[in-house]
Amino acid sequence: MNLCRCGLPAKIVTSWTDNNPGRRFFGCPLFKKGRHCDYFDWFDEGVVDGWPKEALIRDRDKIREKDKVINQLTTQLMELRLELDKHKVEISSEGSEDENNFVESDHKVGWMQKILGKMSISNA
Ligand SMILES: [Zn+2]
Repeated sequence: MNLCRCGLPAKIVTSWTDNNPGRRFFGCPLFKKGRHCDYFDWFDEGVVDGWPKEALIRDRDKIREKDKVINQLTTQLMELRLELDKHKVEISSEGSEDENNFVESDHKVGWMQKILGKMSISNA
């Protein structure tokens, strides 16, 4: 087993740099968690080159693009949830004095819940 300079079992990490897409290496398990050493050793033999390399870079970029979209959707989802809560509060404080207003808010909550349902499925 590979031990890092802290004496901990080294963690296998996948590199996603342009030079070494998809290549795995051993690193300090405490990396990104504060105090860590600079231990580094390749896990895989050889270097990925030629078309597999380009394909890997393309896939990496596609995944990054999708992550961005997921983040945007998550933000939108949170905004809609806030909006939905606001309407719920409005409905409960309105009572039944103004029947038309009540129906309209109820309708809004309905379609928002529908959108939220769809979004959580596509985001899963
Ligand atoms: Zn270490």
